Amino acid sequence: MQRITVAKGDGIGPEIMDATLAIIKAAGAQIEVDEIEVGEKVYLSGNSSGISKESWDTIRRNKVFLKAPITTPQGGGYKSLNVTTRKFLGLYANIRPCFSMHPYVSTKHPKMDIVIVRENEEDLYAGIEHQQTDEVVQCLKLISRPGCEKIVRYAFEYALQYGRKKVTCFTKDNIMKQTDGLFHQVFDEIAKEYPDIENEHWIIDIGAAKMADTPEAFDVIVMPNLYGDVLSDVAAQIAGSVGLAGSANIGETCAMFEAIHGSAPRRAGQNMANPSGLLQGAIQMLIHIGQVKVAEKVQNAWLKTIEDGIHTYDIYKEGVSTQKVGTREFAEAVIANLGQVPSSLQAVHYSEEKLISLPKYTRRAPAKKELLGVDLFVHWPGQSADELASIIKGIELDEVKLSMITNRGIKVYPDGFPETFCTDHWRCRFKNASEGQNISKEHILQLLQRAMTANVDVIKTENLYAFDGKPAFSLGQGQ
Ligand code: NAD
Repeated sequence: MQRITVAKGDGIGPEIMDATLAIIKAAGAQIEVDEIEVGEKVYLSGNSSGISKESWDTIRRNKVFLKAPITTPQGGGYKSLNVTTRKFLGLYANIRPCFSMHPYVSTKHPKMDIVIVRENEEDLYAGIEHQQTDEVVQCLKLISRPGCEKIVRYAFEYALQYGRKKVTCFTKDNIMKQTDGLFHQVFDEIAKEYPDIENEHWIIDIGAAKMADTPEAFDVIVMPNLYGDVLSDVAAQIAGSVGLAGSANIGETCAMFEAIHGSAPRRAGQNMANPSGLLQGAIQMLIHIGQVKVAEKVQNAWLKTIEDGIHTYDIYKEGVSTQKVGTREFAEAVIANLGQVPSSLQAVHYSEEKLISLPKYTRRAPAKKELLGVDLFVHWPGQSADELASIIKGIELDEVKLSMITNRGIKVYPDGFPETFCTDHWRCRFKNASEGQNISKEHILQLLQRAMTANVDVIKTENLYAFDGKPAFSLGQGQ
C-alpha cells in the first residue's frame, strides 16, 4: 500500500480527480489518499504561495503527489504553485509523452510518438530578474553541470526503460555557447555511456520546426527548461489535444504527477471535462511507485475506450466518435474496459525490472581558475560609444585597460558602426594591459573606486575567468 497526497485543485479539477481515482482504484491500485487543499481558495485566504505549511508536510511525508490543475488568481503577486513545488522539492525532470491516436483522435501526425524530457528547475526559470537602467531589464539564465547531468541521464535511462531507440537534444548553443553549450557538451558526454541508444543534437529553431512538421522523426527529446515548456505544449497539441497529455515531475526523493492543461473554469461543475490528461499523469505515478501492472491495465483500458469512440466533447468528432459522454460516463467506460486491450491502437507493456534510479551526482575536482579581466556594466544616457570610451578611459589603471565596449552584446567600441542602435546599458570590458596576463580582485576594487569618483554609474560587474586555461566568457558580438 502506498500513501499518496492528492490535491483536487480548482475548476474542473475535482471532477477529473474523482474520475481518475475511481479508475485506478477499480484497476487495483494499492493507494491510500491524504487530501490537501491547494490553489485558489488558499491564495484568496491571504496565503500568496497557494499552499499551507501543513500541506507541505503531507507532500514531503508521502513523497508522491497527484495534483489536479489549479487556478492562479490574476495580479496581486500570487506565486505559481507549480513552479514553487518543482523547485522546493527538487523535481528536476518533467516528462511528457505525446502520442497520436489516429484515426480515433484527429491529428495531422498519425505516426507521432514522442516523449519530451524537460529540465525543470534551472535556466531562465530561476526567475532572477533585475531592472538595471531606465531602459534595460535582465533575467539571469543559470545552467549547472549537475542540472544537465541529471536531466540528460534521466532521458537516456527513460529511453532504456521504455524501449526507445533515440534521444535527441535541442539547444541554441550556436548563440549561447556557455549555457546551452554546457547542456550540449554534457549530452555528448553522457550519450557515450549509452552506446545502444542513438543520439543526435539539433539547434532548437530548426529542431522545433522539424518536430512540428515531421514529429515521427523523433523519439525522446531532452532540452533546457524554457524550450521544453514551449515545445511540450506544441507537441501535445499536434498529437491531438493538450487535454490528453499528462506529465510527471521527478526528483531524487519526491515526485508530482499532473495533467498538462489548466483548470478550465468555464467547463467546471458540468460533468464535461476530459479526465484523460490527469489519468495519464496518474499512470506515470503508478509506474513510479512500482505498480506497473496496474498502470498497464489502466492504459490499455483507456486506449480501448478511445478506440471504441467513447469521447468527451473536446475530442468528439462526428463520423469517428460513437458516443459523446461526460466525465463520469467516460470513467465508467474505462472501468468497464479494464482487463481488455485495444485492437487497432498499440497496446502497452510496461516492464517491472527497470524503475529509473540515477547515481548520485559527484562533484569533480575544482579547475584552475584565473581572473582574466572584468566587465563593468554602466548606466549612461548618452549615444556615442566613443564619447563613453573617453570617459571610461579616465578610470583605467596602469595595468588594467579598457579593451571593448558593447551595447546589448554588440561591440560598439573600438570601431563600432554608427548604425548600431544603443540603449543606456553599456558593458565596458577591462583586461590586463599586457596581453594574456591576469588581473586581481584588488584591481576591480580600484576600478570601482575610480568609477565612483568619476561619477560613472556602474550597475554591476562580471568577472572574466579562465577555467583550466580555457577562457570561459563570451566575446562581444562582432569582436
Ligand atoms: P486551460 O488549460 O484551463 O484551458 C484551455 C482550453 O482547453 C479551454 O478551452 C478549456 O475549456 C479546454 N480544456 C482544458 N482542459 C480540458 C479538459 N480536461 N477537458 C476538456 N476541455 C479542456 O487553460 P487556461 O484557460 O489558460 O487557464 C485556466 C486556469 O488554469 C488559469 O488560472 C491558469 O493559471 C490555470 N492553469 C493551471 C495549470 C496547472 O495547475 N497545472 C496549468 C495551466 C493553467
